[in-house]
Amino acid sequence: MYHSVEFEGYESTNVSEDNVPIGSLDYLSTKYESLDYEVIENELYCKEEENKGYRYVVQKDFSRWMTFFWIGVIVACVGIIIYIGIEVGTNFKFNIIKKYFDESTLQNNGMLKPYLVALILNSVPSVIGSYLIVYVEPMAKGSGIPAVKCFLNGIKVPRLIRLKTLIVKVIGVISAILGGLWGGKEGPMIHAGAIIAAGISQGKSTTFNKDLGALNFFREDHEKRDFVSGGAAAGIAAAFGAPVGGLLFSLEEGASFWNQALTWRIFFGSMISMFTLYSVLSAYHGHPGDLTYRGLLNFGKFDDLSYHILDIPIFIFMGILGGLTGALFCHLNLKLVKFRKRYVDTNWKKVLEVLIICSATVTTSFLLILWTNDCKKLGIDPTEYPIQFECKDGEFNVMAALWFQLLEGAVRSLFHDPPDVFNITTIVYFCVSAYLLTLLTYGVDFSGGVLIPGLCTGAAWGRLVGLGVLNIFPNTNIGIYSLIGAASQLGGITRMTISLTIILVEATGSITFGLPLMICLMTAKWVGDFFSESIYESQIQMSGMPLLAWDPPPLSSNTYAKHFMTHPVITFKMIESVENIVKILKTYTHNGFPVIEYVQNNELGNNYEKCYLRGLILRSQLIVLLQKKIFDRPLTNYWDSVTVDIFREDYPRYSSIEDIELIQNDLKLTINLSKYMNPSPYVVQHTMSMPRVFKLFRAMGLRHIVVINDSNEVAGIVTRKDLARYKVKSHMGKISVNELKLSNK
Ligand code: ATP
Repeated sequence: MYHSVEFEGYESTNVSEDNVPIGSLDYLSTKYESLDYEVIENELYCKEEENKGYRYVVQKDFSRWMTFFWIGVIVACVGIIIYIGIEVGTNFKFNIIKKYFDESTLQNNGMLKPYLVALILNSVPSVIGSYLIVYVEPMAKGSGIPAVKCFLNGIKVPRLIRLKTLIVKVIGVISAILGGLWGGKEGPMIHAGAIIAAGISQGKSTTFNKDLGALNFFREDHEKRDFVSGGAAAGIAAAFGAPVGGLLFSLEEGASFWNQALTWRIFFGSMISMFTLYSVLSAYHGHPGDLTYRGLLNFGKFDDLSYHILDIPIFIFMGILGGLTGALFCHLNLKLVKFRKRYVDTNWKKVLEVLIICSATVTTSFLLILWTNDCKKLGIDPTEYPIQFECKDGEFNVMAALWFQLLEGAVRSLFHDPPDVFNITTIVYFCVSAYLLTLLTYGVDFSGGVLIPGLCTGAAWGRLVGLGVLNIFPNTNIGIYSLIGAASQLGGITRMTISLTIILVEATGSITFGLPLMICLMTAKWVGDFFSESIYESQIQMSGMPLLAWDPPPLSSNTYAKHFMTHPVITFKMIESVENIVKILKTYTHNGFPVIEYVQNNELGNNYEKCYLRGLILRSQLIVLLQKKIFDRPLTNYWDSVTVDIFREDYPRYSSIEDIELIQNDLKLTINLSKYMNPSPYVVQHTMSMPRVFKLFRAMGLRHIVVINDSNEVAGIVTRKDLARYKVKSHMGKISVNELKLSNK
């Protein structure tokens, strides 16, 4: 009946576990499938290639460039919608709050009224955004960076790149920022870029059930993944005005399969995105034709970023501080996530939590304004909404200026304002509350990332370091310390090094400052890694996504494929009965099956059957064959009408085997799998070491590797989960390899 190829000498693998404790980091979820980077060069593929010729190659290549162009343009347009939405909304909000503040100052009746107004103006959008995420599309939660990172790593993350997710993400991020939550729009821009790229490149929308009939040659995982890399990069280019940073982000955070042409195209898409955004925003601000308007995030221009060699030890010290505070942040955030999983377990509680955090944010800001009473002369800081509260005429409250503007505005003030603008206590209070609010907010059900809050917290303590140095060396430019503090803090939390260095270099416009940024980011990463995983890694581990690390586990050269492969293997014969195919697909959840052929062998007078590998067939291919009833029908020329496009039509959402209806007569027929299978899947010997299998799998973006024994028979199979199970843990300088369990949860 079922072909389960079994040999003596291999242990049966059964590592599935269903009782996973809440918040456990020691399991991999089987619900995440892999993307397939491999091109299935079967008979159909060859038939298509033969028919289409070189014109087709040129057309496909041209379409690729055009698609990257449109990805850049549309990502920029979404960025513009977010920008204008936030600008209009915040102008409205801050003007009203300022009006109530001014009234209270005139009438000298305290800050209760402005507080209540601010509470309402922040709570309403926060709750709307959170409601949409909790009830409409939970995949739009957070920054989306961990999930995009997993997608680029080769994991199919359900609903990650749907149009609905994009719409909720865009409305969610605008609402969250209008609601004053401590989140940034930069992470969501990366996610939005990824969704736009995945959508445009397919020439169809499954949500609207519309197929333009174009670009169907891109309806394959490996093409889509390339476009998604480009979309994420274009998102960064638009958000930070950093096209090279975007390109490097895609390289650093994910795409394992990289080539020169892809690099070019991603760079092109990022540039288009940045310049579309610049030109539209400059027109919006009344300077049409000026292509130098800065990105969504404007750090302002540093007039002087010069530094001395003696500054380097201070930068290293700041990197260490960023690493330590970043590791503490990740550790505490993990505890909070576990707490939330346990206690914030229903939808209404999730929305209520956002409301509580929003109220806590507003309350903190008002309490700090009340406590600090830091007044400075108007004009010393370019604040748009100066609030006089309890200050003399012609003065404004500095703490209020920090709170009543967007987070990037606060970062800009901390970077560029003259040294005497903020009292030390103002910065200390702001810094501590920024750290705690970011910690509390990251992980609740809202759409926003940790990039800008992280930069803001670091810019505050960096400024404190700068003020300390200024005390000793009077000519110090404290802005550079603020910038290094911002980079170190963010580096300590996210552990991004190459891309973050370049993003900050591009956003500040000074390549000469690349070295200090690199030094502090590397130090922050090393120190942070010593104590904990990055915030993204912890999130990924908690969700059970089988992310493949860059390198194989250390000291694993004496672990061989036979030790970690799955045995026995469920296989199909070359000519397989429909009944058997249906039964196997219903019984097993696997997505790939080796196709074998039994060959009579008569070695040394022993007559026995050997099972040779002939190819590999995917579940999705079998589903299409069953659904379209492409069975072997003798005396008909059914084969002529079968093309690769048949498999592209349903991509990427294939039916489940339970939805396929077949009549009794169908079950009696057979399918010749040799026409559809991948006839040359990647195969390794059972004696191949783990590092070699890992590198092959990672570099080629594979989904299945078939393992064969000494007689070239199918002995086992290796998938992403078999490799990702070996998780390297590094804590306090001690390295260990944990073997994670597989779970259906
Ligand atoms: P993916 O989920 O990565 O798209 P898949 O669904 O084919 O691929 P997994 O879900 O990763 O496979 O596999 C879970 C476990 O089942 C792994 O240990 C894997 O080795 C094993 N496995 C996969 N395919 C087969 C098969 N045809 N026969 C037996 N075991 C298999």
